[in-house]
Amino acid sequence: MSEAIQFELKENLVPAKYAQRLKKSISLLSGIVTTLTLFVIVLVVFVARKSPSIEKNKICLSHACVKAANMVIENMNFSVDPCEDFYEFTCGSFVKKTVLAENQRISTFDRIENQLGQSLSDLLTQSDSESDIEPIKNAKKFLRSCLNESNIEKNGDAKLMRFIIKEFDGWPLFDPIFFRNETQHAYKNLAALYKYGIFFLFDLYVNPSISNPTIPTFKIYQPSWFLDKSYYEKEEKMNSYKNFIAKILRLYNSSNSDLTDDIDKMVELEKKLAMNLLNTAEKRIMAYEKMTIGSLKKNFSEFDWETFIQKKVFKEIGNISIGDNQEVELFSFRYVSNAIKIFTEELKKDKKNLDNLLIWSFVKKSLHFLPKAYSGLTPKLAKMFPELERFTNERLLECIYSVTEQMEYAVGRLYVENFFNHDSKKASFEMIKNIQNEFKIMLNEYDWMDRVSRKAALEKADSIDIKVGFPEFIFNDTYLIEMYQEYKMSEVEFFENTYLINRILIEDNLKQILKKVERKVWQMGPAIVNAFYNPQSNQICFPAGILQAPFYDSKSPNYLNYGGIGAVIGHEITHGFDDRGRKFDKDGIFHSDDSGSLWSNKAVENYKNKAQCIIDQYSNFLVKQINKRLNGNQTQGENIADNGGLKESYRAYKRWEEKNGKEPLLPGLNFNQDQLFFINYGQIWCGKYKSSYLEKAVSKGLHSVGDFRVRGTTMNMEAFSKAFNCKPGQQNNPIKKCSIW
Ligand SMILES: [Zn+2]
Repeated sequence: MSEAIQFELKENLVPAKYAQRLKKSISLLSGIVTTLTLFVIVLVVFVARKSPSIEKNKICLSHACVKAANMVIENMNFSVDPCEDFYEFTCGSFVKKTVLAENQRISTFDRIENQLGQSLSDLLTQSDSESDIEPIKNAKKFLRSCLNESNIEKNGDAKLMRFIIKEFDGWPLFDPIFFRNETQHAYKNLAALYKYGIFFLFDLYVNPSISNPTIPTFKIYQPSWFLDKSYYEKEEKMNSYKNFIAKILRLYNSSNSDLTDDIDKMVELEKKLAMNLLNTAEKRIMAYEKMTIGSLKKNFSEFDWETFIQKKVFKEIGNISIGDNQEVELFSFRYVSNAIKIFTEELKKDKKNLDNLLIWSFVKKSLHFLPKAYSGLTPKLAKMFPELERFTNERLLECIYSVTEQMEYAVGRLYVENFFNHDSKKASFEMIKNIQNEFKIMLNEYDWMDRVSRKAALEKADSIDIKVGFPEFIFNDTYLIEMYQEYKMSEVEFFENTYLINRILIEDNLKQILKKVERKVWQMGPAIVNAFYNPQSNQICFPAGILQAPFYDSKSPNYLNYGGIGAVIGHEITHGFDDRGRKFDKDGIFHSDDSGSLWSNKAVENYKNKAQCIIDQYSNFLVKQINKRLNGNQTQGENIADNGGLKESYRAYKRWEEKNGKEPLLPGLNFNQDQLFFINYGQIWCGKYKSSYLEKAVSKGLHSVGDFRVRGTTMNMEAFSKAFNCKPGQQNNPIKKCSIW
């Protein structure tokens, strides 16, 4: 399952380190993917100038409450008026105290992720025990191979060379005698890349059809191995890119031949392809053409579909025969149609150059499996091209994230077994039901929806598939062993291990074309600090990794839990009703607005007007650090989800409070329950960022940066201004408010 139409809670702008575009599919017998320092609590008795009297409330002194109070105190800037800038109020000290050093970003999420990484490393670096089942042993082996830097230093070079000779018959740049000036040879190399999960010309994979999510189909998207499109237009950037390639090539082959012309030609071709890429806003529209293999052949007759798709990819790699009638969904049309033209023209003009670039795309993706001389060059380049920057440069953590990604259910089992509090699963499930129910109550209140549209929305809200914590199958030894039976990892060969997994994933993905889609399966491993909505399965998912403080703690007061994971739950539910999600019905079938088959035209029009308010509002937000405004259009889906989510969770909390009474407050703080609800919400988005990261997040991200995830949502909520007694027109309480859900 690709990430193509999976809505995530937070931005993952850091590229997956190891080519990872596909997930192990789950079907019945096969399957689908900073330490929070505790400071000694300082009991600052702060008299909030605006808080209503709270003397009557009791104080909670449990560990969870003291820890939470501590975090609040550590993060907040008490000198700021929450009604002027709620983000600075909740996160001011966090930003001031956090030191970025080599990191491009440190946020609450990153701290928790780091902590999770540390916990996993404790488990995965332990030597094998007799009770470990085979997949756990293999996960440990994979980790050891990743950590075995001396082997990588010793053999990495030779491995790469052998691999290139074996799979691509050599690199024409250095092995001109092997070069075969034949069209078929270029298709063979294109497929060789595909076999290892590197999609050179376009992404190809099998997943549920947009028009009928019970049927698997074959999808084509623009690929992701390029640099950002904007760089290709800047001479200075292209020169550093060429220098980088030259350095890598010299490491690969120390011969003195002058490669300048070859590199120029390669980069020229890469640029030609990249200039047709769709940007984030264009991509998120999800426009696609329904075709068949037969119509691809007719419409793009210059490309040899028969050889590439039918013979090489499906037959040779997947051992599957597909006919001309096989349906295809073609996304990123502008890119794909031009890329095919460019590819086939180059094929006539300069096969050698094409081959050189194909192999470069492989080497570029493989740098991290190579000796330091190679991999050490990437951080330098990343200074010029922030999208190449990594989340961490610490080898152990990188390797942990990699094994967690590659074997998510095996690693997830270890995590859940050792660190997950099982009570959380049941208790958070109840919260989800409460918030889902609140959303349904809200749906009945909107006068801008007519009866038919409301009915469709209610049915959809009712049939959301809820996934919490972890799938039960991770504790079924037989199941897990079967799922990972092909993962026979070597102790030392990191390069081989990674490409073996990629190959397994590709074969597994291709085979899905023959199977019925099981919509209700898990799509994420448990050891992730994130949450998801999938419109095709109408599924919300909260992996075990996010069910911890400050999001959730079964021993914390519910005003914290609702401000934390509650807002996240609301966010994911609301994705089903954001500008894209609302077009999918309860069964995950996509309905275009023109069809009028899901909502009435009038309701769609009303919705669009309301969405426009949010688009305009966020477009006006200025990220001062880089002096750029947010892209309200590109981020609208996430902003709609943020705004709805916080409201739903707040209302659900108030309903809960009505039934169960007011909860004790936090020690050392003079805030009431409502205020603490909002403060905890604000603190899950605390973050400090390098400007290069912000540039990338603003231009390419689907999410607003943390600052505005806090300010935008609270600005639009009456309940917020009431909680903090804000005057109309104060910065964090504008008179004009936007609201859809
Ligand atoms: Zn989201």
